[in-house]
Amino acid sequence: MAFTGGCQCGAVRFEAGRLGRSSICHCRMCQKATGGLFGPYVDVFDFTWTRGPPRYFASSEAVKRGFCGACGTPLSFEMGESVGVSIGALDDPELAPPARQLVWPAKLSYVDRLGGLPHWTNPKTGQGPSETFAAVKSNQDTSS
Ligand SMILES: [Zn+2]
Ligand SMILES: [Zn+2]
Repeated sequence: MAFTGGCQCGAVRFEAGRLGRSSICHCRMCQKATGGLFGPYVDVFDFTWTRGPPRYFASSEAVKRGFCGACGTPLSFEMGESVGVSIGALDDPELAPPARQLVWPAKLSYVDRLGGLPHWTNPKTGQGPSETFAAVKSNQDTSS
């Protein structure tokens, strides 16, 4: 079984033969590199870029981070021979539930409360987001 994924526009795609440990990282670099509240990565093995390649930014002397040069999706965290991919970039992110977190001083004070947030509903219709935005045409790549 191959584990596949890619960026939002479809210009960069990847495939892995096996998934390893999945984690979220609360360092300031992962926050900046993803634009998110933490970095969500799963280690991958027998990994290849099947379309692309990605562009890279060396966020430190030890780590380079791959992203799509066309749409900007953060795709990889690479340190030497070790490669992790963004969990959300997998075609099926459910396959990589995070098993640990790397806690740094930059961890945001509200992250542990996210699961308890109230669910958004359209104030006019009372519907949730999937019903509210069902008619909006997506440009997101759907290859998988
Ligand atoms: Zn892209
Ligand atoms: Zn990090």
